[in-house]
Amino acid sequence: MSQHTPQKYEFQTEIKQLLDIVIHSLYTEKEIFVRELVSNASDAIEKLRHLQLTEKEIFDDKAELEINITTDDKAKTLTIQDFGLGMTRAELVENLGTIAHSGSKAFLKALSENGQKNTNLIGQFGVGFYSAFMVAKKVTVYSHSWRADEPGQVWSSDGSGSYEIDVADDVRRGCKIVVELKDECADYAQEHRIKDLLQRYSAFVGFPINLNGTRINTVQALWLRSKSEIKDEEYTEFYKFQAHAHDEPRLRLHFNADAPLQINALLFVPKENPEKFGLSRAEPGVSLYCRKVLIESHPKDLLPEWLRPIKGVVDSEDLPLHISRETMQDKALVEKLNKVITKRFLKFLEDEAKNRPEAYAEFFNEFGIYLKEGAALDFTHRDSLAKLLRFESSLTEKGKQTSLADYVSRMKDGQKEIYYIIGPNRAAIEAGPYLEGFKARNLEVLFCYEAVDEYVMNNVREFDGKPLAAADNADTKLEDLPKPPEGESLTADQTAALAKWLKETLGERVAEVKSSDRLVDSPAVALNADKFMSPHLRRMMKAMNKDGAESPLRVNLEINPRHAVIRKLATTRDSSPERAQLVAEQLFDNALISAGLLEDTTKMVQRLYKLLEQV
Ligand code: ADP
Repeated sequence: MSQHTPQKYEFQTEIKQLLDIVIHSLYTEKEIFVRELVSNASDAIEKLRHLQLTEKEIFDDKAELEINITTDDKAKTLTIQDFGLGMTRAELVENLGTIAHSGSKAFLKALSENGQKNTNLIGQFGVGFYSAFMVAKKVTVYSHSWRADEPGQVWSSDGSGSYEIDVADDVRRGCKIVVELKDECADYAQEHRIKDLLQRYSAFVGFPINLNGTRINTVQALWLRSKSEIKDEEYTEFYKFQAHAHDEPRLRLHFNADAPLQINALLFVPKENPEKFGLSRAEPGVSLYCRKVLIESHPKDLLPEWLRPIKGVVDSEDLPLHISRETMQDKALVEKLNKVITKRFLKFLEDEAKNRPEAYAEFFNEFGIYLKEGAALDFTHRDSLAKLLRFESSLTEKGKQTSLADYVSRMKDGQKEIYYIIGPNRAAIEAGPYLEGFKARNLEVLFCYEAVDEYVMNNVREFDGKPLAAADNADTKLEDLPKPPEGESLTADQTAALAKWLKETLGERVAEVKSSDRLVDSPAVALNADKFMSPHLRRMMKAMNKDGAESPLRVNLEINPRHAVIRKLATTRDSSPERAQLVAEQLFDNALISAGLLEDTTKMVQRLYKLLEQV
């Protein structure tokens, strides 16, 4: 039996200061003390496991490498026991009596800089072991070091200026921390409360955690295991657990990196786009861990906005357990993580596109909208994202898509731009007048069907040094490229005269009328002459009832001197001016219809009847 002589010790001044703040704090998330004590316990077991590899003689060597937690709501106590490496008396003094912990140090530094008792800082930095005093009126630590020649010890304190240590009998290896709760914090002696907290913060702690005899953490921290050992089903199970999902993940990326940051990450793309039905915006779904302990679930800045449907975990040993988004240093760290992970994810998608093009195409159909959003808004990753975009085109089959890189590889000699057409669907684009000039020259045109496409194209602007050009824009010129075969045609003079007459006839409604290089089968086409207001945008604005829709149309009319209607019009102009006027108006309205710009059809219908009368 050892000599029991309780010895009183003073806390180091900084610890006193810290405890004073912690005890009097009104900090609302006091619950983090559970995370702090459990991660200390887990660290202690981890250290013991290492010692077992080298040390022959370890005290209480049969003790399980586990953490046992018990609640006693009558006594208002919470007890956390680990069979880790434990502490000698000297270690208790060193570790729990002086300030060693970097988080506590940073906390005090921030406090002195803030010049006030800002209790919010507790949550940001965490104060390790001392956080127990936010909820405790007394904390008792029973500890026995792994060294067999050291006696058991009992450390206790009410968190005021001092603590006591005494020798104790029958102490098992490791630490048993008994937290006697303040009355107002007695709910931490409720099993369900602690269970919730353990599931939230400590679900992946590597050693078994038992709460009142029942195992709590049954899911492994899969991200820290080697890929080759993990079965697909295990990944799926993990995904379902972590993302609270019921589907199977569509894609997964499991990677680790050592430089520039130490990272283990396991990321999933769900089966379906959560925003598909436009009901709500997806919330970020990737959580941040430091060595299996949750730092923050779903932090906003960990990944760029456009990766919000991604689920999973990122674990970095480089993170202090108590990361804060407020302090510059931590912000920089999260930004760095963001950069590394995003780059890696983009590379992963690129590989997927190359190695599993069909699966990638399915992924793109479901999630391409996010890549488009990124390409339009995220300047940092624009180039990588542009490579991942896919479009149908005039050369693909319906339903098949091409990349911009493949488009570029098929560009014709002399072709400087990448052409695209915005339209509601393939059939509408193919039937419209815009495609024919490109088709006749064997020029490929990308088909864009989605509402965001125009915005995306305007923001991406170029790919591989080639500008993206809207096929229905007046600035997109085709004359330098080989012309379609000439057939019977008005002469240049006749065409110019007809164009002049048309301009006079149509007046302010057209900006310019001229002979077209791009028409083959259609008599005329309306080209957008307003750089800032495409027909598509105008339609959208109108649908949203925005003012822009009321600004006057600015279109150029191009006519096809080879087309029968135009040739006929040139003669009708002299022989039957009245009818020619009707034809000119109708020609223009037809062109507006193809452009989706005819707003009021009543006049046109009246005119059509007039024309029909003359048949
Ligand atoms: P941190 O864990 O961040 O170092 P703490 O204030 O929580 O800071 O703990 C201070 C030190 O006390 C730890 O570094 C560790 O050496 C020791 N310690 C705390 N809890 C335990 C435990 N359960 N078993 C063994 N040592 C512990």
